[in-house]
Amino acid sequence: MNEVKNGATMTTESAPQKPVSRPPIRHFQIPLTLGGKLYVWRFLIARRLVQIGVLILFIGTAHWGWTLFNQPVLSGDLSSSRFLGVIPLSDPFAVLQIIASRHMPIFDAFLGAAIVFLFYLLLGGRVFCSWLCPVNMVTDLANWLREKVGVRSLFIVPAKTRYWGLLLALILSFILGVAAFEWISPIAVMHRELIFGMGIGLIAVLGIFIFDLLIMAHGWCGHLCPLGAFWSIVGRVGQVRVAFDDAACSRCGDCVKVCPEPLVLNFKEAARHGMIRFGECTNCGKCVSICPEQCLSFNLRACIRKGAEPSQTTHNSSS
Ligand code: SF4
Ligand code: SF4
Ligand code: SF4
Repeated sequence: MNEVKNGATMTTESAPQKPVSRPPIRHFQIPLTLGGKLYVWRFLIARRLVQIGVLILFIGTAHWGWTLFNQPVLSGDLSSSRFLGVIPLSDPFAVLQIIASRHMPIFDAFLGAAIVFLFYLLLGGRVFCSWLCPVNMVTDLANWLREKVGVRSLFIVPAKTRYWGLLLALILSFILGVAAFEWISPIAVMHRELIFGMGIGLIAVLGIFIFDLLIMAHGWCGHLCPLGAFWSIVGRVGQVRVAFDDAACSRCGDCVKVCPEPLVLNFKEAARHGMIRFGECTNCGKCVSICPEQCLSFNLRACIRKGAEPSQTTHNSSS
């Protein structure tokens, strides 16, 4: 019987349920043709285009004065920016820290935070992580390298540690009277320095790279980052979800192996709700791309049909 982590292990439980016949287990194979490879990498390519494209818009506006309709295209940085000179965009977590620090943000910051918040509420909070945050490119590279080289984690902390980090950021903001995480945030530092010039702050980003590469798999983004924790909370009600077709799933476990947040791929939960419900899912699409049975896909929460309680599994005899 196939066994993978999390919900897949429930397939071996001996509850008196009607067995479900599953497709034979076939593992993901990278296609041989370029077209096939590009199809598998489609979400990765799209994510990098968005991440780098937004960065280029910031850099072009700051350094070459790019305009559209006679307005600066995208000025500022990820913490606080302005699109076409009129639409304010602010990081809602930064605004929350300013409020916790007992200062009153200006109206534009509130409005910008509301716009950004609603945008990610629709798309799924951690879409910010895998589609926009520049640090994601660094941690993806570190974790890709560690898998190639076969580095083992020196230690592991619970994934929920990030929520304590979020709370600590708010408490420190209150005590110190400044937006505490903003002062040390590698996301803000990396973004600012990529736009306005390299500086000593990139040491923090190098530290995250080394930490993820040599010390803990998915250490920063998957366990510690307070901003990732904030977007995970928002993601719980995000409307774009990874839909899951339980009947088509062979429980091969390939999706769990590629997922940067493996705890979210709980098959029992996914079968019951017809989707990956956990807010920690970044909608990166890695699992969707590699599923050999095409039982994972993006869909709107409202269009996803809830599944029945999952039953015991039997695989077709050809397995
Ligand atoms: S967890 Fe933090 S650093 Fe990682 S991608 Fe999300 S916001 Fe960026
Ligand atoms: S969802 Fe797809 S990749 Fe994941 S276990 Fe099922 S068949 Fe395998
Ligand atoms: S469940 Fe899929 S989309 Fe969500 S984080 Fe994991 S691999 Fe990415």
